[in-house]
Amino acid sequence: MPAIPPTTAAPSKQRRSLLLALPSLYALSAWAQPAAPLSSKPYPGRLELEVDATDLQRRLVQVSQTLPVRPGPLTLRLPQWLPGEHGPNGNPALLAGLVIETDAGARLAWQRDAIDALAFRLQVPAGVGRLRLRFQHLSPHSEEQDRITITPSLLGLQWNNLVLYPEGYAAAAIDTAVRLRLPLGWQAATALRAPEGQPATPDAQGWRQFGPCSLEQLIDSPLFAGPHYRRVDLDPPGAARPVVLHLFGDTPADIAATPAQLDAHRALVQQADRLYGSRHYRHYDFLLAISDRFSGIGLEHHESSENAVRSGYFRDWDKSAGERGLLPHEYSHSWCGKFRRPADLLTASYEQPMRGSLLWVYEGMTTYWGDMLTPRSGLCTLEQARDSLAYDAATLEARRGRLWRSLQDTTTEPVFYAQARFKDWPSWQRSADYYPESMLLWLDADTLIRERSGGRRSLDDFAHAFFGVQDGRITPLPYTFDDVVATLNTVLPHDWRAFLRERLDRHGPGAPLDGLTRSGWRLAYSDRESEFARHEAGKPGRHEGQDLRFSVGLHIGKDGRLHEVLWDSPAFAAGVAPQAKLVAVNQRAYDADLLADAIAANTGGQAPLQLLLRDGDHFRTVTVDYRGGLRYPQLVRIDGTPDRLSEIMAPRA
Ligand SMILES: [Zn+2]
Repeated sequence: MPAIPPTTAAPSKQRRSLLLALPSLYALSAWAQPAAPLSSKPYPGRLELEVDATDLQRRLVQVSQTLPVRPGPLTLRLPQWLPGEHGPNGNPALLAGLVIETDAGARLAWQRDAIDALAFRLQVPAGVGRLRLRFQHLSPHSEEQDRITITPSLLGLQWNNLVLYPEGYAAAAIDTAVRLRLPLGWQAATALRAPEGQPATPDAQGWRQFGPCSLEQLIDSPLFAGPHYRRVDLDPPGAARPVVLHLFGDTPADIAATPAQLDAHRALVQQADRLYGSRHYRHYDFLLAISDRFSGIGLEHHESSENAVRSGYFRDWDKSAGERGLLPHEYSHSWCGKFRRPADLLTASYEQPMRGSLLWVYEGMTTYWGDMLTPRSGLCTLEQARDSLAYDAATLEARRGRLWRSLQDTTTEPVFYAQARFKDWPSWQRSADYYPESMLLWLDADTLIRERSGGRRSLDDFAHAFFGVQDGRITPLPYTFDDVVATLNTVLPHDWRAFLRERLDRHGPGAPLDGLTRSGWRLAYSDRESEFARHEAGKPGRHEGQDLRFSVGLHIGKDGRLHEVLWDSPAFAAGVAPQAKLVAVNQRAYDADLLADAIAANTGGQAPLQLLLRDGDHFRTVTVDYRGGLRYPQLVRIDGTPDRLSEIMAPRA
């Protein structure tokens, strides 16, 4: 899943991180307390959920829920610690109108826990065997609140917002079934299936049924729906565990893909088969929203994934390369994250805290394989893949935060998302750097294995050995740090414990680039921005603007607002601060070309760069002493060395 607020331009990972960029604002008071022990028994009876999602204008989702109960104290909870988000992101602010009644219609008093806003406590009177709950999920109208998941032509339902579950039971031990009403004529996709013997199609009122299944499966199986829909089979007909791509768009044009574009998505499935050598799902459903209105997301599930990209994904294929790593990333999570799960992230209930000590595998290796499967499947070119890698490497190289904050420490980031939503100094504070930095760590390991084994072994062998076991097993198989070390040793005997610890715990300056060097390439800078980066930086939203981080140290929004001032950069040294507005460059009104020209003109120092900044109603002029010209990252071959990077990115036969 998801990662932390990208305040910088370009890298593709930041797009898939967007989900984490918009976590719910929830006070983190409860997780410090030990969770109550879970019952070893299944919850007696079935939780039945009825969801009406037809109010598209007001974005009100009406929920009605029944569950069997016993007399006595009862605590109902909104899920808090969400798999894939790795943190306590349940959002109580989006639930309203809660009424709890007995079967006979008598209203019962409930009390929210004083410090745990997701827990509702009540007393079930004697003689009452079933409760009925009603509430609304207030689907956001602005991203200030949370992700936009309902638009006039798209709807994404995450069941964790739509269910109150009884505390004290494992999610796998709570049986559920769902009735869902969607607007008439809309089509839906989810990894959930209709009840045995029931049609998957809706009735005349638009109601459809799913389940029965466990609460765990329900919450792990979100649903996308809309009127503009296309189903694309990514496997040949008759596949035992088929993979399907479900496209939803704002308009029919958004989902009109060419055969070649779809073939690249089919190749992704084949290349993943060759890499992992197993499938750990009964069927796999890619849910892909192609929209400029639906909020970005990339969230992994065991038998599906939620993905959202901009409306040009297929239509402007030449410009969407930066988004095409999303599906390879989320699909890789079916192996790395969902099937093989770090033991300290594998919790039985949403009330139990997670610990992310191995996120550098869960997210880091997924980033690595996602980024390699993208060119392997033809979803991007080798050049685009290198440009993406160059941006990640350069961003880390420029992030002074490595001086004080280790890669290992960044894995605690998900537990304070709520406070880390927006950062003034991301290059110093760091964020979910366990995505891109671990990607470099795994490149280091891969190239080391290739070098030491004379090209006979590689990290592909690790993937096969670690994720390819027990083909068809769906239940998660947990692992520890020691298991990672042990499997690496079967691929190539080496002091992997020291290798990993050193890279996890050490500090900068600079990025860990040994793997890049061993791959036959080095990070360099050009005065021309790559096509890949230009299209990324030009996207609407927070990446939009001018990326001058690698020269003066600024990322500037389209309106001149300074999104980021790099710590220890020339702009930083001149006293420039984030969120100020850049009004003028050398006494002329700011525009992107003017500033770029001024930076180029000052190469060598002949034409000092003066910036007029506005901070509220204060204006000030600063002189930035930077003489290095325009600088944009790129990868350059190291002559006379083997080109291992191209080997790693080449499709597996
Ligand atoms: Zn991920």
